[in-house]
Parts: sequence; structure tokens; C-alpha cells
Amino acid sequence: MKAGILYNDRDIRLGEAPEPRIKPDEVLVESSHAGICGTDVHVYRGEFHSRVKFPAIQGHEFGGIIREVGKDVQGFRVGDRVVVDPIISCHSCPACLTGRINACRTLKLLGIDLDGGFGQYVAVPVSHALHLPDSVPMKYAPMVEMYGLGHHVLQRGQVQPGETVAILGAGKLGLSVLDVLCHSASPATTIVTDLQPFRLETARKLGADYTIDIAQEDPVARVIEITQGVGVDCAIECVGHYHLSDGQEAPLAQAVKMIRSAGRIVTAGLGEQLSAVHFKTLVLKEAQIIASRVTLGEFPRAIRLLSKGLVHPELLVTDQMPLRDVTAAFAKVDRDDPDTIKVVLDVQQV
Ligand SMILES: [Zn+2]
Ligand SMILES: [Zn+2]
Repeated sequence: MKAGILYNDRDIRLGEAPEPRIKPDEVLVESSHAGICGTDVHVYRGEFHSRVKFPAIQGHEFGGIIREVGKDVQGFRVGDRVVVDPIISCHSCPACLTGRINACRTLKLLGIDLDGGFGQYVAVPVSHALHLPDSVPMKYAPMVEMYGLGHHVLQRGQVQPGETVAILGAGKLGLSVLDVLCHSASPATTIVTDLQPFRLETARKLGADYTIDIAQEDPVARVIEITQGVGVDCAIECVGHYHLSDGQEAPLAQAVKMIRSAGRIVTAGLGEQLSAVHFKTLVLKEAQIIASRVTLGEFPRAIRLLSKGLVHPELLVTDQMPLRDVTAAFAKVDRDDPDTIKVVLDVQQV
């Protein structure tokens, strides 16, 4: 089969790979569309050597059509449209035993640790396949994972209707969180910070009440002003890697100052950098910093939101490119083009 194969750091190309064989409890999915995630770019840049073995077939946000079912599979047939939940947990570590399978000590993802949706065919444990309603176009299948992440972040932050929320970073993740927040969580006030005008404009289209261009304004002062001196109930860090100009603080440090007393901070970005946080402020506020990793059972909710048209994948998927252009697609995401949010690969175009 054809696949977008990562042969080495920053060397991803269309190549040939053996077609996977399924086990009795697996289905063979012909991948249709697969998203390029921020994590995929970290892998491409060589930051996941402990987990990724070359040659690797990435793609953990994908959907497709079932072409073969294992003999023990029930409830799925050849021809079914599915989206794939890529998280494989061990079910025996302390996190798994308390139901937190998304924080599994040896968590594996199809498309990171195992072959994923940048290949034409993927062997998928049937417990990880979910039916995708006809009302959701295949090109939006990768957004199920993104909106699942959005739900999970809000769940971790215990965001309640009527609250004030600031999202730091309007990339793929921040805007997915915002889309779910604005259209299924009834916030009172939403504030989004970023550097890129196009992303801030998209945030406004998705329903952000206020956007702050951090190159122009001090985000902390502006959030305090908007909330009339109180601070937000919850601040959500979706920046990951950051570049600071003179006088700017790390996003997490900003979040500590932005939240109200007894407020919450959710960190969801996967940055490698250390962030200096003023702990005295955190203690005096008796605030919480809560981490959020991947998803925990949020796929069905994300599918329902997409199916009912309550979220706006058409604003987030800015680029659809054929799999044969995988090299150019990764270069585009790596450059962080200002008018690009989510790039989806059409795996049928090889
Ligand atoms: Zn992802
Ligand atoms: Zn585990």
C-alpha cells in the first residue's frame, strides 16, 4: 500500500509499506482523511525519539471505510464509515486502574507509537472504531479527535455555564476548545489571546467575545480590565512552544495572573520549555493548575456535536491536501503559515 512515511527527522515522503493484517478482534480501515496534529509536527522535528521508530506511519486523527472485519467482530460491517479513537492503554497501571486510561503510564497511540492513518490501510481494534454518521463528511472525521480534546479540556477545568474563560493560544487546539466552549458550554464571556491576526479573526467568527493580540496589548492587563478587576474563572493554556518578546511572560505565568481567586488553570499545550510561575500568587489565590491529556471517552459527544452542526469544522480545516503532497503539507505546518489552522490529508489521493 501507499503511505506517508517518516523515514527520519524532517524526512516524510510518500512510500510503499506492507498492508497490515488484522487480528480476530480488529477491523481493516481504508483511511480516507487524516489530520496533521501539533504532535505530528513534534514527531517530525525529532522530539519523540523515545516513542517513534523509523520508518513510521503517522496519523492519529483519521476516519475511513471498513474493508475487512475480523472473525470475532460484532456490530461493524464491511463498508461502514468509521472514525478511529487512537488511544491504546494498558488497563493495568495505577492510572488505568482508576479509570484514567488517557493518562496510562505506557499510553500508545495509533499514528504515533503504532502505524496510523497516513497509510492507505490501518488495522484497528474494533473497540477503537466508532460509527461516523452520514451527516458528517469524511474530511471532518479528523476533527472528532480535536473536538474530543476540546471537551476533555473543559471537563478537566470543570467549566460551568455562565463562567468567564480565557484561552491562551488560538491554534488548532485553542480554537477547537473555543468552538466546543461557545457552542455547548454556555460561557458568559470568552477571551482568546494569540499573535496571528487570522487566528484571532477565526476566534471571533467562532464566537469569542474578546480577542487580544499579545503583540499589541498586555494580555494580563486586558483580561483584568475586561473582567472588571476580578480575573477569569478559568484560563486554558493551549500555546505549547512559545517565543517571548521583551517583557513578555510565559503563557502559564500569564494564566496565574489572569485567573480570579480560587480560579482554575488548565494546561493542554505540549511545550518542552520550562515556565516560571509566581507561586506566591497561586497560593494566595488558592488556585489550581490542572493538566489535560488527550481524551477520555469524549469521542461520542464530539461526533454528536459534528453531526448536529453545532461546531464549525469548516472554519478550522483551512487546508485539504492530497497524501501525495505529504512532504509539502508537513513543511507548511512546520512553517506555521499564518493563514493555516488545520491541515487535513486526503489519503485517497496518492
Ligand atoms: Zn492530535
Ligand atoms: Zn495503563
